[in-house]
Amino acid sequence: MDFSLTDEERAIRDTARQFITREVMPLEQEALLRERRHEPGLDRSELRELQLKAKKFGFWGLSTPEEYGGMELPAVLQSLIWTEVGRTFVQFKFGGEADNILYYANEQQKQEFLIPTIEGERISCFAITEPGAGSDAANIKLSARPDGDDWILNGEKTFITNGNDADFVIVVAVTDREKGVRGGGTTAFLVDRDMGWRSEFIQTMGEGGPASLIFDDVRVPARNILGEIGQGFELGMKWIGKGRYLIPSNALGIAERALGMAIDYANTRETFGRKIGDNQAIQWMIADSEVELEAARWLILRAAWTVDQGEDPRHASSMAKLYGARMVNDVVDRVMQIHGGMGYTRELPIERWYRQVRLMRIYEGTDEMQRLIISRDLLRGYTKIGGHLA
Ligand SMILES: Cc1cc2nc3c(=O)[nH]c(=O)nc-3n(C[C@H](O)[C@H](O)[C@H](O)COP(=O)(O)OP(=O)(O)OC[C@H]3O[C@@H](n4cnc5c(N)ncnc54)[C@H](O)[C@@H]3O)c2cc1C
Repeated sequence: MDFSLTDEERAIRDTARQFITREVMPLEQEALLRERRHEPGLDRSELRELQLKAKKFGFWGLSTPEEYGGMELPAVLQSLIWTEVGRTFVQFKFGGEADNILYYANEQQKQEFLIPTIEGERISCFAITEPGAGSDAANIKLSARPDGDDWILNGEKTFITNGNDADFVIVVAVTDREKGVRGGGTTAFLVDRDMGWRSEFIQTMGEGGPASLIFDDVRVPARNILGEIGQGFELGMKWIGKGRYLIPSNALGIAERALGMAIDYANTRETFGRKIGDNQAIQWMIADSEVELEAARWLILRAAWTVDQGEDPRHASSMAKLYGARMVNDVVDRVMQIHGGMGYTRELPIERWYRQVRLMRIYEGTDEMQRLIISRDLLRGYTKIGGHLA
């Protein structure tokens, strides 16, 4: 058994770390100030400028196939890089990426949607959740009915990330109520904003915010169907599945940085004539955080490795998402506790992380949905206890 990184993995990970440390972290103070004024920490043009700088460093399209100019990295390397990005709270991500399901586009759609998204010229969003259907995504109601060569979309999506900024949405609609959502009754459509949907900002405890998307008789040409008629729910599940090991990878970076801050603080802050780190109460919080971080690391890397083996990653990814999301919440909570009153202020990023990481237990499958998947796999015998070593 070998738990080490290859030389190539280490070199790419270290270069990503250098980029984040030298080019992104210096922007943190300004980003915090802007967020306090309810402005984005990084605006669209600044993000693009940073992404183009990263391209010169060699980082462009981590998951994008080489034929589209990307790096097409194995999942383990993508995971390692997402961890590096998690170290900064500036809302940065490497450029050259597009939603995984846009690769189901036909040639014309690729020119119109996929390639401009990879190039950063267009912003996409993905919409399946509705006011009455989140975890129970099979209960969606937004309808699409045929009308000549077009389809007419009616209904509402909610909590859509990038929904306020997106130029187009990949929306899953019910096209055949009788077949049902799981029986091939849904279809994904590529819908430009100027076709008539509108977005409404939703205030959340996090920075930025998702949006509700309202479709009121929105006419969409049949050529904008993504994939096949009836494939909508399947594509939706593929989109959601992609993030299951990347979200906790990002969480790992946040937890590592936050724990590092707590250790520095415990080694300098004095009470009752000695460092707070000399107290067992503080030592235990640090120890528990390190153990949970390390456990999450291997669950996450194992999930990514499963993807690279070409095996079904769902079970491993659900375990990584469930544990990673809980871990980062617990670690950040302890880091705040160790910092005392300072941890609660907006002088430091801890309260920001505290608000940010709470979302990780909710979106792209709640804790409860991950538990449902994990237990169902075991109860029905799809997976053996002991994973790939069983
Ligand atoms: C900031 C943000 C960004 C998001 N981005 C997107 C996006 O880009 N695109 C998109 O389509 N969606 C997006 N979502 C939606 C997100 O995926 C859903 O909020 C999530 O799936 C939970 O659905 P819900 O909010 O309807 O909660 P519900 O499904 O109503 O669940 C409420 C509670 O009940 C629990 N629960 C539900 N069913 C069961 C059960 N059978 N057993 C046990 N417990 C259960 C849940 O775990 C949860 O705790 C986003 C959400 C947020 C908050």
